Amino acid sequence: LLFTHRGLSGPGVLQISSYWQEGTPIRLNLAPDMNLPERLQEAKLRSKKLLSNELATLVPSRLAEAWVSQEPALQRTAADVPDKALNKLAEALSNWQLTPTGSEGYRKAEVTLGGVDTRDLSSQTMESKQAGLYFIGEVVDVTGWLGGYNFQWAWASAHACAQALPSQSKIEPAAQL
Ligand SMILES: Cc1cc2nc3c(=O)[nH]c(=O)nc-3n(C[C@H](O)[C@H](O)[C@H](O)COP(=O)(O)OP(=O)(O)OC[C@H]3O[C@@H](n4cnc5c(N)ncnc54)[C@H](O)[C@@H]3O)c2cc1C
Repeated sequence: LLFTHRGLSGPGVLQISSYWQEGTPIRLNLAPDMNLPERLQEAKLRSKKLLSNELATLVPSRLAEAWVSQEPALQRTAADVPDKALNKLAEALSNWQLTPTGSEGYRKAEVTLGGVDTRDLSSQTMESKQAGLYFIGEVVDVTGWLGGYNFQWAWASAHACAQALPSQSKIEPAAQL
């Protein structure tokens, strides 16, 4: 997840954008690999450091600073932060709810949803119900997850289609462009 000057980005956000419906809220866990309430309580029991420094060992330091700077009750040593404020912080970071105001749209899109319905295509050859008309890659209603699956689909469907196309020598001269 990246915080950019225009908003949230990064692979995680690109991935969920395929599922997001405009106007609906999303929930983000900014500390996914740990039990954050437990870790903050542990810090409270043993630490004389500022809470922001303790938090910076659990999430990126600039995120820790930015979050803590919004709440005076958190701007103390970990031991002095009231339980209520600590629990609120843990909940906010591990279950951060927000409603994005929009997306970058097609200008920045890396993959599109929708396209030619796969039910109208042969899964062996990519030929449509209109004989001799084939569809491959992005134009088909196949959406790959991030990680190269869209390239994979483009190449694999192209390969299947190319295998099925009549070879050049078999095309009647009149049909050649
Ligand atoms: C910024 C960006 C980053 C991406 N990163 C990844 C990634 O990391 N991994 C991944 O798996 N996928 C990624 N994708 C998606 C991936 O690039 C596409 O899914 C894939 O390229 C689709 O291949 P395609 O051949 O179906 O279509 P395209 O690659 O779009 O090819 C279509 C071609 O048709 C040409 N064309 C259009 N109209 C006409 C016409 N009328 N006559 C002749 N030619 C025409 C176009 O110029 C284009 O060359 C990314 C896409 C973008 C935009």
